[in-house]
Amino acid sequence: MSNEHLLHRSLLLISIVLIITYLIPVPAPGESTTLFINAGEIKQGELLIISTGESGIVKKAIFNNVEYGFYQDKENGTDICLIPVSYWLDPGTYRLEIMGDKVKIKREIQVLPGAFVESRITVDSTQEELIRPENEETIGRKEMNNQLIKETRSKSNPEKIWQGNFIWPVEGTITTSFGATRYVNGILNNRHSGIDIAAPRGTEVKAAGNGIVKLSAELLVTGNTIIIDHGWNVFSSYCHLDRLNVKSGDTVKKGDIIGTVGSTGFSTGPHLHWAVTVHGVFVNPEEFLDK
Ligand SMILES: [Zn+2]
Repeated sequence: MSNEHLLHRSLLLISIVLIITYLIPVPAPGESTTLFINAGEIKQGELLIISTGESGIVKKAIFNNVEYGFYQDKENGTDICLIPVSYWLDPGTYRLEIMGDKVKIKREIQVLPGAFVESRITVDSTQEELIRPENEETIGRKEMNNQLIKETRSKSNPEKIWQGNFIWPVEGTITTSFGATRYVNGILNNRHSGIDIAAPRGTEVKAAGNGIVKLSAELLVTGNTIIIDHGWNVFSSYCHLDRLNVKSGDTVKKGDIIGTVGSTGFSTGPHLHWAVTVHGVFVNPEEFLDK
């Protein structure tokens, strides 16, 4: 695959409906660089991507008062900034600032509502205790698990490890989509942080992209869980697995079998809960697929 092709793949792994091109002035006379921002139609739960025409011109971007760094795409001589637009962010207009030593531009970004459905599930008291614990021991274990997950995603490889688009980790039926408003036994619980794919217990689960396994463990709510670091603060997670075939520190290639579908943890039947975070914020995993 050519370098140019790779650049386009890294830009186009998102739903770029419209690419808006801005010219940034740079100090030396006659020089200029180009910024690409996929800001045409950004919805809650999607990724805002800024790419530069050349490397080293811009250093950081601030979106909705949060600062994000640019990663050097060495293969293509450009810098890329990935900004997750949370599904909790209210639709509306937000300020985006892009800065370098001699560059400062401001844009208004329109965030549109995501098409999130409602998901209502009924579980028994044992399952309910996992998500709304009253028992001290469960509360303590849950806090430890949350801390472990946070630590796992706190440090990512500074180099991009994944290549091209992600693949679906398992073939099956989507039972709950990303961002769904989840009611458990009639009480609002959360937004659904990933995609649920139902498949028979034992179905092989594949790594969605190249990466390094950062966690492979049995957790309370997410059951047998694998978290893969793909670099640039992009992590994918695979939950409720039956078998864990990889361990922390393993390098995996896209398509490698990492485990099997199960129903461990908070689960009503065999399925894979597949989630992707960028800078610790859940985004729709489909942003990384070839759409
Ligand atoms: Zn799920």
